[in-house]
Amino acid sequence: MAAPHPETWMRVLPQGLYCEPGDFFIDPLRAVPRAVITHGHSDHARAGHGAVMATPETLAIMRSRMGEGRAGERQQALGYHQPLTIGELTVTLVPAGHVLGSAQIVMEWRGSRAVVSGDYKRQPDPTCAPFEPVECDVFVTEATFGFPVFRHPPPQHEIAKLLKSLTIFPERTHIIGAYSLGKSQRVIAELRAAGWDAPIYIHGALAALCALYEASGIRLGDLRPATVAKKEAFKGAIVVAPPAACADRWARRFNDPVIARASGWMRVRQRAKMAGVELPMIISDHADWDDLLRSIAETRAPEVWVTHGSEEALIHALTLRQIRGRALRLVGYEDEEAAEEAPDDLAAAVPA
Ligand SMILES: [Zn+2]
Ligand SMILES: [Zn+2]
Repeated sequence: MAAPHPETWMRVLPQGLYCEPGDFFIDPLRAVPRAVITHGHSDHARAGHGAVMATPETLAIMRSRMGEGRAGERQQALGYHQPLTIGELTVTLVPAGHVLGSAQIVMEWRGSRAVVSGDYKRQPDPTCAPFEPVECDVFVTEATFGFPVFRHPPPQHEIAKLLKSLTIFPERTHIIGAYSLGKSQRVIAELRAAGWDAPIYIHGALAALCALYEASGIRLGDLRPATVAKKEAFKGAIVVAPPAACADRWARRFNDPVIARASGWMRVRQRAKMAGVELPMIISDHADWDDLLRSIAETRAPEVWVTHGSEEALIHALTLRQIRGRALRLVGYEDEEAAEEAPDDLAAAVPA
């Protein structure tokens, strides 16, 4: 008997993507009895579920962000590569390379295998385990940067731009706007790898997550609260803060700051301009166009389901490669890198 096609046992319901033989939702958009969570970003990891299964790191991130009680009534930790059997279904979590603890959900049922990537990237990241391609019948991919214009340079290149700016403007405070979960810690770790061993000052919104990364063995070095006691201390210093704080009065208390921003969207000049960013750093925790296509090819999946992002462009490219593409049209996921910017201006802002 032929293995059942994953579309017969994985369904899109109003709550999100549902795995029938396991009776759970993956990254559900509203509260459900049983959820499997790919990673800790707030559009994927929502509060109020009954049972929640995820990697130990993701569960810790959820508890830290939403409080013990709201991160699921029951939490079940599953480490990478530890198959879990639910009836006839086997579930395995495999690294996605997106942020600490991020996992692809590998599901096998009656000889048929589906993989839900969650968010993922292929660039090396000192703060999380690298993405591993898994061969499957259906690969569910994100497409945040699913336009050919998006090609992310090596992060070291972008870090070097910042360090260069510090030598040109040794008096100015350099404030890097970076998303509080994942991007901030990655930027800090990349600065350390580039040899910056001075204290790095962090906005209060980053403190708990940086401590959690440290507790998970990710070394971030000397971090200090960015509370301005003496302006002098911030001359030529690096401050990391959530993007919203950079556009705020909070940033203006520093001496003539250079506002930098670490995001894949910094590829789009108008975005940087609109956000008042003087030093755009193209550092993304999502796969760029080439890496989306490469990853899909490595899964050898004959069929790909596309979730948030630019579904049409990617599906078109897959069709040319004889891969069947399907837009899942799950509404409610947003890109954390753009969450604080206008979400719908991409089409208008993408250069021809
Ligand atoms: Zn994410
Ligand atoms: Zn996402």
